[in-house]
Amino acid sequence: MSVWSEMPMGPADPILGLTEAFNKDTDPRKVSLGVGAYRGDDGKPFVLSSVRKAEKLVLDKAFNHEYAGIAGTPEFTKLSLAFAYGKDSPALKENRVAGVQTLSGTGACRVMGEMFARFRGEGSAIYVPNPTWGNHIPIMKNAGLEVKKYRYFDPETVGLDFEGLLSDVQAAEDESVFLLHACAHNPTGIDPTQDQWAELSKLMKSKKHTAFFDCAYQGFASGDAEKDAWAIRRFVEDGHCIALAQSFAKNFGLYGQRIGALSVVCNDPEEAARVGSQLKIVIRAMYSNPPVHGARLVTEILSDDTLSQEWAGECKAMADRIIAMRAGLRENLEKLNSQRSWEHITDQIGMFCYTGLTQEEVLKVREDSHIYFTNDGRISMAGITSDNVEYIAASLHAVTG
Ligand code: PMP
Repeated sequence: MSVWSEMPMGPADPILGLTEAFNKDTDPRKVSLGVGAYRGDDGKPFVLSSVRKAEKLVLDKAFNHEYAGIAGTPEFTKLSLAFAYGKDSPALKENRVAGVQTLSGTGACRVMGEMFARFRGEGSAIYVPNPTWGNHIPIMKNAGLEVKKYRYFDPETVGLDFEGLLSDVQAAEDESVFLLHACAHNPTGIDPTQDQWAELSKLMKSKKHTAFFDCAYQGFASGDAEKDAWAIRRFVEDGHCIALAQSFAKNFGLYGQRIGALSVVCNDPEEAARVGSQLKIVIRAMYSNPPVHGARLVTEILSDDTLSQEWAGECKAMADRIIAMRAGLRENLEKLNSQRSWEHITDQIGMFCYTGLTQEEVLKVREDSHIYFTNDGRISMAGITSDNVEYIAASLHAVTG
């Protein structure tokens, strides 16, 4: 008898559990459209050549393996913030942004959740879009927050429920915290337009809400990292003291390196120093300090103009391949004279496509065609290739008519 003897079996993760089922499937036609990791048109994991070059440069520098500080590698954090807020960001120039390196985007969200729970109170609310990235909910709950949802997706139009969003922002108590996806909303692929972002910023300002941006796809969404940072920069320009989680998993293809950043825009440098000190206290007790290799790779790229340009081209190529696959999937469905409108496939942006399929339809596609994607109808566009797009379209058509 031990503590573990009576421990119940936990349910499989909805996304990673799907991969397990896929791996067990012996049908040669099987396709995995579950996990959000980019694949080349050959269906294989992809390492950017700018990253390969950075790896060589890092190796040549023969770094030691001492600990980074609690806040990580300062040079990386500086570059990371300039990447998001813009090189000429007044907030950065005025030294009023507290920033730390984190364990990718997940770690940044978790640390920020902890900060909200500590300084706004255990059990205080965070509003997340409905739906949102599945992990946001347990991350924020584990941090001690109450998760509330604001309207986001409209199943009727397979588009944004902007009116619903605005009324939920309006109805929330003043000074609430709202989690926003900076670009390429996961799972829907639906983002507000620039005008809608501006309107939201204005309303949130008048309600004194705090915007916490989760930015997991900068550059990966449109192919242009500056464009994908538009909403973040607009909120800062409008005077919001935003918090921001950044991930370099998708845009730099550094998934397993766990490289990201968390920053908080403050009113002045003194406030930023206080916030920075609390971030370090939270991190110290959680994991002490972050790993250094990913930070070194991103630093090599973002500190060098030639490598940065090469990275930008490669990031655009990844985004373009996804955009091309969206067009291909829609075209193939339309060629089959589908009764449904598939316009949303090309309207949506980023790694994922929210097909609008019901759970029943998803399960039928899985059973009949051995195509694996989540029960909410989300497919990872990154798993679609020129070779399988026709098969996928035909399989979706077979259940949707
Ligand atoms: N936020 C969102 C919206 C995401 O889609 C993801 C990746 N699936 C993350 C955060 C975090 O990813 P990572 O921890 O790998 O950076």
